[in-house]
Amino acid sequence: MARRALITGINGQDGGYLSRLLLDKGYEVHGTGRNSASTRQLRAMGIDGRIRHHTLDLTDTSAIERLIDAVAPDEIYNLGGPSFLGNSFDWPIDSCDASALGPMRILGAIRKSGAPVRFYQASSSEMFGRAATSPQDEQTAFRPRSPYATAKAFGHWTTVNFREAFGIFACSGVLYNHESPWRSEKFVTRKITTGFAAIRHGSGEPVRLGNLDAQRDWGFAGDYVEGMWRMLQQDTPQDFVLATGQTHTVRQFAECAALAFGWKLAWRGTGLAEEGYDRSSGRILVKVAQEFWRPAEETVLCGSPARAEQVLGWRRTLAMPEIAALMAEADDRRAREVA
Ligand code: GDP
Repeated sequence: MARRALITGINGQDGGYLSRLLLDKGYEVHGTGRNSASTRQLRAMGIDGRIRHHTLDLTDTSAIERLIDAVAPDEIYNLGGPSFLGNSFDWPIDSCDASALGPMRILGAIRKSGAPVRFYQASSSEMFGRAATSPQDEQTAFRPRSPYATAKAFGHWTTVNFREAFGIFACSGVLYNHESPWRSEKFVTRKITTGFAAIRHGSGEPVRLGNLDAQRDWGFAGDYVEGMWRMLQQDTPQDFVLATGQTHTVRQFAECAALAFGWKLAWRGTGLAEEGYDRSSGRILVKVAQEFWRPAEETVLCGSPARAEQVLGWRRTLAMPEIAALMAEADDRRAREVA
């Protein structure tokens, strides 16, 4: 019989990539989302018709219990909840409730069912916050600095506790930023590639960005879902960091994305007056704007994938320049279709 997986947040970037991976492996895939969620990515991937969709609110304990009983999954991947950190200080309590208590509700339902369900919790590098060391690994202490990060830390420790206290096969994957052509446009990578595509195809103004020297450890979402699956195939449940081990600046990402559009991005000016332009045509591509400026992080978040590589045999296949090119090409194609 086909193994059955239940993915919360199936309509998000990772939900799409993970669904495709599991379907390719012969799983029966069930997915949950909020009523309002769009299935655009699953449709474009050509897999929407193969997914069994359910509506689920991660703040509703009895609905979670009923769904787990009805689906009887072998594996649950908890990817649901908001993923954009932005300014999570403005978040409604409900968002933190889904992110923090959602995993506890699912783990409680697994425990109650008594079934040998394996559980993956989508944790975040944001939990490291003002980390004392870089790169961070599975031993690094969390110092979360936002409601998003504290909610994720709660989910992480709940996963560890249910594993240790009740013997549930539960793993927390501490994932660094992972991007793709399906990343939401709120994130800086996709903001850059959609913005450049709009300029290329006529309608766009220069892309307005915040701190160009902010650094991230950017990986490819398609690689990271492979790591999630591998965590649940081990003999014993453990937690892993998934990262590339390399950081790049927003400036470097923009330069790599620009290349895919045939532009050589150069810079002039400083601070809020800085702008990026194409060296050959002189066209302005980037402007710095105060409204997107976040204060510089004191610690650069850079993860060590050493343990995942060693124990899971996980390898990332794409590095930042390739990811930027992939995203730029996809947005170029989309803009061409619309234009
Ligand atoms: P996250 O903050 O790591 O979840 O991911 P983002 O993609 O939103 O931000 C990555 C980095 O890019 C952060 O350090 C931001 O400060 C920086 N950044 C610079 N300009 C922008 C911008 O215009 N929008 C966003 N979202 N981030 C920006």
